[in-house]
Amino acid sequence: MPLPPHDYFAAGLDADPELAAAVNGELARQRDGIELIASENIVSACVLAAQGSVLTNKTVEGAAYARYYGGAEFADAVETLAIERAKKLFNCRFANVQPHSGSNANAGVFLGLLKLGDPILSMNVAAGGHISHGHPATLTGRDYRIAHYGVNRESERIDLDELRDLAQASRPRVIVAGGSAYPRAIDFAGLRAIADEVGAYLLVDMAHFAGLVATGLYPHPFPHAHVVTTTTYKSLRGARGGMVLWNDEALSSRINAGIFPGVQGSVMLHAVAGKAACLGEALRPDFRAYNEAVLANARALAAALANRGLRIVTSGTDMGLALVDLASTGVTGDVAARALEKAGLATNKNMIPFDPRPPEAPSGLRLSSNAGTTRGFGVPEFERIGDWIARIARNPSDMQAIQQARQEVLALCRAFPIY
Ligand SMILES: *Cc1c(COP(=O)(O)O)cnc(C)c1O
Repeated sequence: MPLPPHDYFAAGLDADPELAAAVNGELARQRDGIELIASENIVSACVLAAQGSVLTNKTVEGAAYARYYGGAEFADAVETLAIERAKKLFNCRFANVQPHSGSNANAGVFLGLLKLGDPILSMNVAAGGHISHGHPATLTGRDYRIAHYGVNRESERIDLDELRDLAQASRPRVIVAGGSAYPRAIDFAGLRAIADEVGAYLLVDMAHFAGLVATGLYPHPFPHAHVVTTTTYKSLRGARGGMVLWNDEALSSRINAGIFPGVQGSVMLHAVAGKAACLGEALRPDFRAYNEAVLANARALAAALANRGLRIVTSGTDMGLALVDLASTGVTGDVAARALEKAGLATNKNMIPFDPRPPEAPSGLRLSSNAGTTRGFGVPEFERIGDWIARIARNPSDMQAIQQARQEVLALCRAFPIY
């Protein structure tokens, strides 16, 4: 009998008690707390084992079956497995599974498709965009000319008329769609029409909704997108890293060269194995059931908060993510998140569209059903989570209420154990 993953890793970590204490502390934190941060999930034993495997010892560069170093037959098999599964899952012709992260996937695509100083049109971080789409603090913000679109003030949704005007004015080479705090379905066909009008590529970064795309529960970026990027550890519930997908063979050498040697060196083969593992799981029927539950649970959580008087940005969600506006409580997102953490509820502060407050103390809180759904929570559990959040966010210094919630959270976690 193979050891359960925590025992296996704990056994290896015995050699380093200081490190073991920290890793085991994290295991206990994950077991005994409710993870509501949208960029996280709870991976399977197979993903854990793949990432902790001997593949970490192997160095390869370049494409499978065309490596610079020898001894790569199993490395080639691992990477090919990940590529073939990615193509099947997302119904596309080409995949690069090497990006060390979602940011590297985006940076590699930009490097491959653009020249220094070329214009990009992407969503403002303040409206829910991601920093790797041209934020001034990143390489992409330094190397390209960035124009941003936001959301409509009334609907809090992407406004294609405004986006078209911005595209006409900025003449981007790439239009980027998909963010980290935009909870609604995106009209990819509408965006492609605008991209065609101005001669731009459409890049869809589906990090937060890739699992829903894979299971037909969110609009598919293909055939509208020229290129799709994603992380593999959020909605795909797998290895830490990123991935690039596309259909036009004419883009292949530029995208592949943009990733390697463009923005990174040798392959993190253990992570690629973890990607193969999660993509294999995503191809199985129960991944569809999981994603249906992700959606139902996020909507139940949003509704529970709305019923307790908190405003949900766009009044709901089309994915596993909801953004709550705490303005009516007078409590800011940072204060609420700190109080919730004391109760064992991990969330993150977040700007809301047109937030009058600064990023360090914004009006919003971002919540996700991804990880809770993995551990088996359904609608009743997410309604309880909504109740805890509403009560604590209103009274973040009521230590008695927080301690009471902490005990209830712990009991719920023990009823839905992980690892
Ligand atoms: C999380 C995320 C990324 C970046 O992923 P890293 O792995 O942290 O580099 C990129 N794009 C979007 C939309 C994301 O949500």
